[in-house]
Amino acid sequence: MLYETGIVTDDLLESVLPSPGRRARGPYAIIECFQEIPCNPCTISCPFGAILPMGDINDLPELVPDLCTGCGICAGVCPGLAIFIVDESIGDGRAAISIPYEFVPLPAKGDTVSAVDRAGNHVTDATVTRVSGVKKKGTPLVTLSVPLDLVHQIRFFQQDKQLAVSQPLMTSEKEREDKQSLSEATLICRCEGITIGDVRKLVEEGYTTVDEIKRISRAGMGPCQARTCGPLIADLIARITGVPVEDVEPSAHRPPVKPLPISFFMEEESDVLT
Ligand code: SF4
Ligand code: SF4
Repeated sequence: MLYETGIVTDDLLESVLPSPGRRARGPYAIIECFQEIPCNPCTISCPFGAILPMGDINDLPELVPDLCTGCGICAGVCPGLAIFIVDESIGDGRAAISIPYEFVPLPAKGDTVSAVDRAGNHVTDATVTRVSGVKKKGTPLVTLSVPLDLVHQIRFFQQDKQLAVSQPLMTSEKEREDKQSLSEATLICRCEGITIGDVRKLVEEGYTTVDEIKRISRAGMGPCQARTCGPLIADLIARITGVPVEDVEPSAHRPPVKPLPISFFMEEESDVLT
């Protein structure tokens, strides 16, 4: 069902919800990551060890709710935007949900937005109470005040429709194509924290293939092994140099196709020797 619709089912949500007692105590992360993919920034980012180390890079992340402080660091680094911070301890029938938000313009504290469910349907109007992480690497978090009984329905929001629609219309075709219209701080390789600005600088220094960018910056050498950033870097090189993207030399792929622990090779070696 999840793979057909892309929408988390109630059963899956139930499987990652902390106990009622923990939920009542204060903010916590809820990790809605249900697809086994080579990804682990969440586990590495948590300063409290609240997301268990993975045995295999394809494992699903596992939260230890009692160790989680709800700090939100993991939500800002998750490339899948799969982590939300929920606080059900506020009182007065209200709750707070912090949502990773990659779009511009960001809303401002005090704005009213349309809180929507996982399918994008309007659930309720909500007030923005905080916008955090704007100056850090990673995705800003927008915190909404919502009714307590709706907090697990709400997973995104829409700003004023006119504003959202008018943004691309204000930008001409030429401007959209213009390399400068891309924000320099936008992460292009989330695994290694490489931004558009980092890649642009390298291209302007003369590194114009995906492999060159990879070797000098490590972009594409993280857990996703360039599956996400490789085509984006090729596209960026094409925009900056004016070369058609199909003429940009792509990254070479060699085995292993996913990160493996050194013990894997040591075991293989032992088998050969015995
Ligand atoms: S919210 Fe903070 S403490 Fe909780 S899992 Fe994420 S990084 Fe760790
Ligand atoms: S960082 Fe996000 S997408 Fe990656 S494993 Fe963790 S929760 Fe899943």
